[in-house]
Amino acid sequence: MDLTAHPLVVRARRLAEDLLAPEAERVDQEGVPPGHIEAVKRSGLLGVTAPADHGGAGVPPAVAREVAEILAGACGATWFVQTQHHTPVQTLARSEHPARERLLGPLSRGELLSGVAYAQLRSYPRRPVRVRPERGGWRFDGTVPWYTGWGLNDVMLLAGVTDSGEALFAFAEAREQPGLRASEPMRLAALTAARTVSLELDGLWLPAEAVALRTPYDRWAAGDRVRTLHTSPAVFGVTQTALSLLDTGTAAPLRARLAGIRRRAYELADEPPPKGWTGRPATAMRASGAESEAEARTVDAWVGERLAVRADAHELLRTATTAAVVAGGGRAMAVTARAQRLAREGLFLLVQGQTAESRAAHLRALSGAPADT
Ligand SMILES: Cc1cc2nc3c(=O)[nH]c(=O)nc-3n(C[C@H](O)[C@H](O)[C@H](O)COP(=O)(O)OP(=O)(O)OC[C@H]3O[C@@H](n4cnc5c(N)ncnc54)[C@H](O)[C@@H]3O)c2cc1C
Repeated sequence: MDLTAHPLVVRARRLAEDLLAPEAERVDQEGVPPGHIEAVKRSGLLGVTAPADHGGAGVPPAVAREVAEILAGACGATWFVQTQHHTPVQTLARSEHPARERLLGPLSRGELLSGVAYAQLRSYPRRPVRVRPERGGWRFDGTVPWYTGWGLNDVMLLAGVTDSGEALFAFAEAREQPGLRASEPMRLAALTAARTVSLELDGLWLPAEAVALRTPYDRWAAGDRVRTLHTSPAVFGVTQTALSLLDTGTAAPLRARLAGIRRRAYELADEPPPKGWTGRPATAMRASGAESEAEARTVDAWVGERLAVRADAHELLRTATTAAVVAGGGRAMAVTARAQRLAREGLFLLVQGQTAESRAAHLRALSGAPADT
């Protein structure tokens, strides 16, 4: 398939070249402007993976990855705000709750932009956000440490864990309201422009119709674990832009490395999990004795291969952005210089979606220790 000719890829490239890339350094310093959000909404790119019968494009993963690379390579902050939207869309597409019919169309057509507040689920059995039934709906209490797009997006998909160990995801309007208070937008080493806040939930009440997903925690975690093993397409997008700042001779060997790692990362992303995948770490499989040693080894190898490629991709990103700074000389240190912006965005990508498992594997790779220690 020639991805470059796909209509959505063409549209992404036009948005990137006409608006996002030329404005990226200004946006990095001043924040993502409402005009960028309007342009993204109009572009049709918010429905890239959404089902066609709800106004989306329903493209295969390869096209969605290409679009993500282009947007991330053009303007990290705008890419990051819009990337939050795709989890709510996919959650609704698989949902059997009434929220599907109310929200999937507007989200797929880009009439509404959604953020997400769910990374805190990963610290389970700690429950930074607790959910309890109240007055026919659900009451949310606790703290969301990270919420991106505050003041830019219209709705948020908020997640917490119930007393019976269910992960519950529900939509709320993305604005202050009784039971929901936001911090000031955080000043960060990168992507301050994406308006990330923390949220205090103190009895936020959402009606039953707001629920998009309710599932045992372990079932949600099994799917989430797969997603966090893969390399984000943004890593490749930022790497490509950094390489575009180098002369041909310097860039050529790095481009060859990029092509190999990227191809492998996407092959791995397209493979389904091994037979009998439950999402449980191999150590837990061995401890419980419920699965065989052979199954535990298969899971170990499957996970390890993905995390190794992810670490390689980040290493190449670091090399490419460092080379761009070196090539730029002293001028690269200006806050308006592209090379240092890309290097800072590369730092952010190191921790985006990081889990205890991916952090340990990445640190092993950085220290040069063998993958299986
Ligand atoms: C600028 C920025 C914006 C972000 N925006 C969003 C957003 O809009 N929405 C969103 O949902 N997330 C967002 N995140 C969160 C992000 O996706 C990652 O989940 C986060 O960076 C992981 O790091 P952490 O510091 O929050 O977690 P850490 O506290 O460092 O934890 C890392 C991992 O360790 C494990 N862990 C931690 N504590 C425990 C515990 N007590 N018990 C068991 N395991 C534990 C979990 O696997 C966890 O994922 C954002 C992050 C950043 C930096």
